[in-house]
Amino acid sequence: MDHEALSEHLRFAAELGVAGTSRDAGWRLRAGENTPARGEVATFFASSADALVAVRTEIGDCTRCKLHTQGRRQIVFGVGNPDADLMFVGEAPGADEDVQGIPFVGRAGQLLTKIIEAINLKREDVYIANVIKCRPPGNRNPEQDEVETCEPFLFQQVDIIKPKVIVALGTFAARTLLRTLDPISRLRGRVYDYRGAKLIPTFHPAYLLRNPSSKREVWEDMKLARRLLQS
Ligand code: URA
Repeated sequence: MDHEALSEHLRFAAELGVAGTSRDAGWRLRAGENTPARGEVATFFASSADALVAVRTEIGDCTRCKLHTQGRRQIVFGVGNPDADLMFVGEAPGADEDVQGIPFVGRAGQLLTKIIEAINLKREDVYIANVIKCRPPGNRNPEQDEVETCEPFLFQQVDIIKPKVIVALGTFAARTLLRTLDPISRLRGRVYDYRGAKLIPTFHPAYLLRNPSSKREVWEDMKLARRLLQS
């Protein structure tokens, strides 16, 4: 379904009183169901791909937080397989991502691609997104109000894709998803239940570029992800 058809679809749904997408995973359940079935975007969208397009359409040319006034070129929504079993969540787009509109395409992204290939997957097999969809100026850390404004869209992406495994890349993603202030060094090494997925926190590829000796731990985390995907 293209953007125009989808917009028409959403307009029609709005006339019927259907809001389109919701942050609550329960919105997709049919009456009597307790848990959303994997891959089922039951009541409204024909596919996860269409549901993701609807979320992207809802974001629009976003002006919800101050980042739109601070030099971002475009929104970096997410990339990959809308029905992926494995999803990666990073922090926010950097300069290269801001130019290309695709997450993890710079140096850290090239390392992430190698990490994905190390468990015999391709980038197209997984889904990659960030907590924040716009580049913070000078690559500063995202601020609390920016996270609060943007994270509902990430939660919607997770609820649509319904991955089996989420790998949270770095302190920032892990803290945001797990609602904790613990550093990644304390969070990693354990598997967490998160929105129906198994969440594995690991070091951010940009950190690995500065600290190559930590690649060993990331490799352990990725082997764990592979085991969970196969189980
Ligand atoms: N770092 C991130 O956290 N996300 C990107 O998309 C690129 C670099």
